[in-house]
Amino acid sequence: MLSLEPTTLLQSLVAVTLSTGILLLISSRQNRSESSLLFWGLANLLGSLGLVLLGLRGIAPDRLSIDVANATLFLGYMLNWAGMRRFCNRGISWWWIVAPSILWLGLCQWPVFYASVEWRIAVNSAIMGLIALASAGTLWSLKGERLVSRHPAAIWLVIHAGVFLARIPFALTTTMPAGGQIIASASVTLLLFEALFHVTIISFLQLSMAKDRAENRYRKAAETDVLTGLPNRRAFFERAERGVAEAVAGGREAAVLVIDIDRFKSINDTFGHAGGDRVLTSVAEAIRSHLRSGDTFGRIGGEEFGCLLADTAQAPALVVAEGLRRRIACLDIRSGGARIRISASIGVSAVCARAVTLSQLLDEADAGLYEAKRGGRDRVIAVEAGFRRAS
Ligand code: GH3
Ligand code: MG
Ligand code: MG
Repeated sequence: MLSLEPTTLLQSLVAVTLSTGILLLISSRQNRSESSLLFWGLANLLGSLGLVLLGLRGIAPDRLSIDVANATLFLGYMLNWAGMRRFCNRGISWWWIVAPSILWLGLCQWPVFYASVEWRIAVNSAIMGLIALASAGTLWSLKGERLVSRHPAAIWLVIHAGVFLARIPFALTTTMPAGGQIIASASVTLLLFEALFHVTIISFLQLSMAKDRAENRYRKAAETDVLTGLPNRRAFFERAERGVAEAVAGGREAAVLVIDIDRFKSINDTFGHAGGDRVLTSVAEAIRSHLRSGDTFGRIGGEEFGCLLADTAQAPALVVAEGLRRRIACLDIRSGGARIRISASIGVSAVCARAVTLSQLLDEADAGLYEAKRGGRDRVIAVEAGFRRAS
């Protein structure tokens, strides 16, 4: 591996960093809601510029190939970190972004530091390692989102940080070649080789994380009812079917509620479509806050909602449904100063010998709902094979 020609390695690294930067920028144009891609793309472009300047060592003045080159690299690294923070919905301080570059340029004005290759390498490695660790920490602490590439990216950044931090004791205990020969040293060759891996891997993972997030967003939109924000009919059926199958297989209880707003058509006629929509969103919110986080619910029709209560037998399900009915009847919904008084009828069913699939449970709950409507509305009814049970 050490027989690799360092100048060729450096040129390859510049090419890879530049091309991944351009790819990230193109991707940021396609996915404008993900501004972190812009930060990551610019970070790679700055990184490639910093590498070109580093490669001018011995040709260009040291102020350019040491001071400015490393300050540019740090700025690129900090933009990468800022992109991670953006991606994780955390704030960004521009002072922090420029701080390592300013610190470096300041230290380079100190002759003792500037004359010591070992100390320059140690400080450079410490800064690079700490930025990579900070990026890993930011990414690791992201909560509430399933992104396949997130943990691999954080782990890779820790490994990358480890390479830089391990370089510090090495630099301080070994005499490094000075001037233009430093690029030919074994440790620099190894570092360039690792950097080639790093840029390829981290850019791919960044693109992949942004893609995962966009897919999650589309999936959520496809599963959500636009008006109420509840899962839509398809999402409810998918989740509830799975929930019932798991309950039946595990010998656990489960109950289904079908909730229908009473005389909704006349609410629309009296208060207009906007008034009707307000009723729907208020009822949806009441359902969401009344049920437990493990329950499944959704809008299954115009003014009809379905719920699957986990680990709940029929008797407690009737109690939950009755509480929900009362809550809906007490909702304070206003339209043009007037109160819209509403009620709902609820049909209830529970897993039993006759009902072991979602469709059977919905049929039974629908029978209860039909009875409730026939009986005068604003009530909860469960029908069990001809036997009628009201709450
Ligand atoms: P019942 O008490 O028997 O349930 O009578 P109902 O009037 O509630 O039932 P019906 O099925 O006759 O009417 C439902 C109405 O819901 C008809 C439709 O115009 C209205 N609707 C469906 N979707 C929406 C919506 O998204 N917004 C509004 N405002 N109304 C809707
Ligand atoms: Mg209705
Ligand atoms: Mg209806």
